[in-house]
Amino acid sequence: MPARSEDYLALLYRLGEFGVEARLSVIARELGVAPASASRALAKLGARGLVERRGAAYLLTQQGLKRAAAVVRSHRVIERYLTDEMGVDLYRAHYLAHSLEHVAEFGDLVDERLGGPRACPPGNPVPGRAAPAALPLSRVSEGKFRVARVGELGGSLHWARLLGLRPGESLEVEGVRGQRVVVRVAGRRCEIPLEAASFILVEGG
Ligand SMILES: [Zn+2]
Repeated sequence: MPARSEDYLALLYRLGEFGVEARLSVIARELGVAPASASRALAKLGARGLVERRGAAYLLTQQGLKRAAAVVRSHRVIERYLTDEMGVDLYRAHYLAHSLEHVAEFGDLVDERLGGPRACPPGNPVPGRAAPAALPLSRVSEGKFRVARVGELGGSLHWARLLGLRPGESLEVEGVRGQRVVVRVAGRRCEIPLEAASFILVEGG
């Protein structure tokens, strides 16, 4: 299967993890492609029995889910390997893993070598392994929290990098202003768009 097809499957998996409806506009934006080309690619995956359409949303079939989980698992264990064993920065590891995740056998070797890690460096669970109990930053009330997980959607990884938010890091939520969550990180006040904040999960500090 072409790497690009696997990217669609993996994206549907990630959106599903956060309960986001996978509409064409969301898929095209996340993958940085025109809606028309996303539509064509999804139709091809549909013809292969990996994706189906329900109303305006695209869903993974059972078979599609299996393929998607394998790609996401590869991605997350490879990130772990790049950061822990090779000292690669978390964000660079994310981009590198996007290229390496398509060699399934490599993902298997890395997973075995690391002894089956539970989560990737930004805290996303390896498919089939336990996820942390946490809430979206966009939905918590004021107070102190710790970052549990940075999803790789909606620009959340970009904002996390900008503000130095990674799993274990503390922050204080001050409230919501318009379409932004106001937080205090390491003594600095910053505002994160609600969309990105919905993919940053936090737990009680
Ligand atoms: Zn990643």
